[in-house]
Amino acid sequence: MKLENSLDFAKSLDNIDPLKNCREEFIFPKHNNKEVIYFTGNSLGLQPKRTRSYINEVLSDWGNLGVEGHFTANRPWWDYHERFSKQLAKVVGAKPSEITVMNTLTVNLHLLMVSFYRPTKKRFKIICEEKAFPSDQYLIASQVRFHGLNPKDTIVELKKRKGEHNFRTEDILNTIESVGEECALVLVGGVNYYTGQVFDIKTITSVAKSIGAYVGWDLAHAVGNIELKLHEWDVDFASWCSYKYMNSGPGSASGCFINEKYHGLTDIPRFEGWWGHSKEDRFLMGSNFIPEPNANAWQVSNAPIFSLAPYLSSLQIFDEIGMPKIIEKRNLIVKYLEFILNNVAANTQSNFEIITPLKSKERGTQLSVFLHGYGRKIFDYLMSNGVFVDWREPNVIRLAPVPLYVSYVDIYNFGKVLQSGINSLKGISKN
Ligand SMILES: *Cc1c(COP(=O)(O)O)cnc(C)c1O
Repeated sequence: MKLENSLDFAKSLDNIDPLKNCREEFIFPKHNNKEVIYFTGNSLGLQPKRTRSYINEVLSDWGNLGVEGHFTANRPWWDYHERFSKQLAKVVGAKPSEITVMNTLTVNLHLLMVSFYRPTKKRFKIICEEKAFPSDQYLIASQVRFHGLNPKDTIVELKKRKGEHNFRTEDILNTIESVGEECALVLVGGVNYYTGQVFDIKTITSVAKSIGAYVGWDLAHAVGNIELKLHEWDVDFASWCSYKYMNSGPGSASGCFINEKYHGLTDIPRFEGWWGHSKEDRFLMGSNFIPEPNANAWQVSNAPIFSLAPYLSSLQIFDEIGMPKIIEKRNLIVKYLEFILNNVAANTQSNFEIITPLKSKERGTQLSVFLHGYGRKIFDYLMSNGVFVDWREPNVIRLAPVPLYVSYVDIYNFGKVLQSGINSLKGISKN
């Protein structure tokens, strides 16, 4: 398809967009009474309109039923967390029994590391990517110290080559193989939060398993964004937050995948609580822990219904549309964004550097761009003109044209705002 930088062309893409009605499912912030152009769904997804009714339902049930709501609410609370498994399993490519929803992401990775990071004298190292999301760095270093080890001798960081913005799979695999039997765990982000690079989860998992390590993935930027086949790829565990591409609201509950190989074990190290106990006799209040025969065994506390309800509501949208359609639109809209960026760069004689891989296999919804020469001023200009983008030091702008609710006309309009912003900055610097 030949792309064009024109309003008519953008409109024509919207007209044939199979997801065009999906935008109506979401509430957009307004700027000067107009819906903003929202490119920050990789940070906090927009609120689905249907979410309010899910929360209101819990409020009404609680008001009307009190404690009885645990069993008689419209969606009873005692097993509310089980309602995610079938639909989330489709989003991440798992068996329903391998899915559970609980706590928040960093907490879950800590809990999962109790089971899957079990250093011995010989096998104790953790491989992660350099400059991982800060929470993951703190998580890993503190786990290492918790086991009485020194992070410096224990954490092996995957590195990019000098002058390159992305990791090369061959380098990742070489590092894994060279750490070899000293490696206890490989724990990497499935999509790099800064560059938007999509890792080859399948290949990395398989090589890490071949050296006898456990493999876990932080899927914060991957879930709802890229195709995942966690079960088929033989991943040991994974976790993700739900408030980015999955639109479940600030700090809402996190999802976990735990490979079925580890279900039903009573001797696996695990931090346990009553919500992980076999549901049939959970309320008999016995003193022996009998694990649920699935990923729910990792549950700890009474499920946080007000954090689950928005996730359950937004998950319905994914279930109705399905990941293949989302990915199909994602590929085209990201390509259109790239095209518009290149157009604006040419029109303004600017030097934009897209640091996200150009191959569609290696990128998802996000483009990260160095807008060389314009710095934070262009970010401020965009924000004050109704374009929500994300700024990361030193001077990267991250743009996520989320296929569920961003239109092609949004992309076109973004290009116009960006171009006039650059022109006005140039005008200012001339004075
Ligand atoms: C967003 C994000 C987190 C956030 O963790 P929370 O515990 O939900 O605050 C962690 N890791 C990565 C890679 C992220 O992108």
